[in-house]
Amino acid sequence: MNRTRFAPSPTGYLHIGGLRTALYSYLFARKNGGKFILRIEDTDTERKVDGASEIIYRTLKDAGLSYDEGPDVGGEFGPYIQSERKALYLPLAERLVKNGGAYYCFCGKERLEQLKADGATKYDKRCAGLSVAEVKARIAAGAPYVIRQNIPEEGSSTYTDGVFGDITVENKDLEDGVLIKSDGMPTYNFANVVDDYLMGINYVIRGVEYLSSTPKYNYIYKGLGWELPNYIHLQPIMRDATHKLSKRYGDASYEDFIKKGYLSEAIVNYIALLGWSPKDNREKMTLEEMVELFSVDGLSKSASIFDEEKMKWLNAQYIREMSSEAFYEKALPFLEEIEHLRGFDLGLVAKLTHSRCELLSDVGKLTAFLNDFDNFDLGSFKNEKWKTDEATAEAMLPGLITVVSDQWPVASEADGKESTNHKLSNLHAALEAFALENGYKKGQVLWIFRIAITGSLVTPGGAIEMAELLGRERVLKRMQAVSRRLR
Ligand code: GLU
Repeated sequence: MNRTRFAPSPTGYLHIGGLRTALYSYLFARKNGGKFILRIEDTDTERKVDGASEIIYRTLKDAGLSYDEGPDVGGEFGPYIQSERKALYLPLAERLVKNGGAYYCFCGKERLEQLKADGATKYDKRCAGLSVAEVKARIAAGAPYVIRQNIPEEGSSTYTDGVFGDITVENKDLEDGVLIKSDGMPTYNFANVVDDYLMGINYVIRGVEYLSSTPKYNYIYKGLGWELPNYIHLQPIMRDATHKLSKRYGDASYEDFIKKGYLSEAIVNYIALLGWSPKDNREKMTLEEMVELFSVDGLSKSASIFDEEKMKWLNAQYIREMSSEAFYEKALPFLEEIEHLRGFDLGLVAKLTHSRCELLSDVGKLTAFLNDFDNFDLGSFKNEKWKTDEATAEAMLPGLITVVSDQWPVASEADGKESTNHKLSNLHAALEAFALENGYKKGQVLWIFRIAITGSLVTPGGAIEMAELLGRERVLKRMQAVSRRLR
């Protein structure tokens, strides 16, 4: 049984890069009939942020990456939060000491600082040479200590990574890192290894920053007589050629993109492509299709650059494919936030803007004319094709106002959809008749009418649709106001 995990530290948000790591672990597990596990790595209490774990649970679920075991869903290898596993680590470190893979170290801060000041790049193993009796005596005397890993000084270590192949690191480049701190708590490095083993993780999928420290982890496995897992290290997502995507530079987290109006499917689809490509080079894929197509040999050996324009392009495709109902449901939280849409038929706004949105939040700018009407540029009446301008508008508007007020009956409470449609098609016919009677082309009339009621060259729909959205009273008021401005 393959078991993969996502092991984030709860630092306050789920970054796009983290989500992608989770996604690949998820895809690997699902593809191979394995299990995907969530573990919260909160040994670093200083970096811990309240509520951060909940953001992780919520984001993974929202993105469709359901985990089989985890803090909030349980499982037989729990607890899945490291701070709840405290008691496990010290006895294992002590066992490692017995096996020669670690040692007690009594060097205090001062000595370590002196070592550094003297130019040492790593701990000098002084305490590795203490006799068992000496160690016992010091501990009995109450001397504070840490437990350090004992890395062989000579030789090198090699393992095979699923993406990068054989990785060899010289042992002299590895440090005897602290496994258990003086307060008895494990360091991140130790807890991470212990938990991967105890949770039966046999595929460790994570960021490339761990590629060269993995030999160190492997010595812990070996020292405890444990079988090594398989490793798959992932290249980072970059903001540009030299900078990693990171919160520090204001690059967004998953939630930020959702707030910007991206669909979760589009985000997941886009980030899947940042570091992996399926054999057929397909770009638009559902999560199920990704599971089907996923394979480790499609993972990239080089970093990828995050291109928000591309994600937006993909988002637009997803939006276009949604049913009107689904779009309305997703767009509603955005529609409800937009001040200038108060009092408008949001269902109709959704219907009119649906095919024109790249982001759900575009509903705002697509309907800005509802707000920015009063001082619109009267030059907008100019149209080369229809040969219209302000003078045409001035001449036409009084007649248009009469058409609307006479031929577009006041709406009544009882009006259903059918009667509204009927009234609107009558209005359309009346405008056509008006054109014919007054020697205008139909296109000229519709142009002047649409500009006069929206003040905008680009609108999410034609003249009649805009009239429907605004309603009879607003249409009349707007035309009268424009007519006054033109005089
Ligand atoms: N907690 C580590 C991190 O957030 C996990 C590293 C790993 O996956 O082994 O980077």
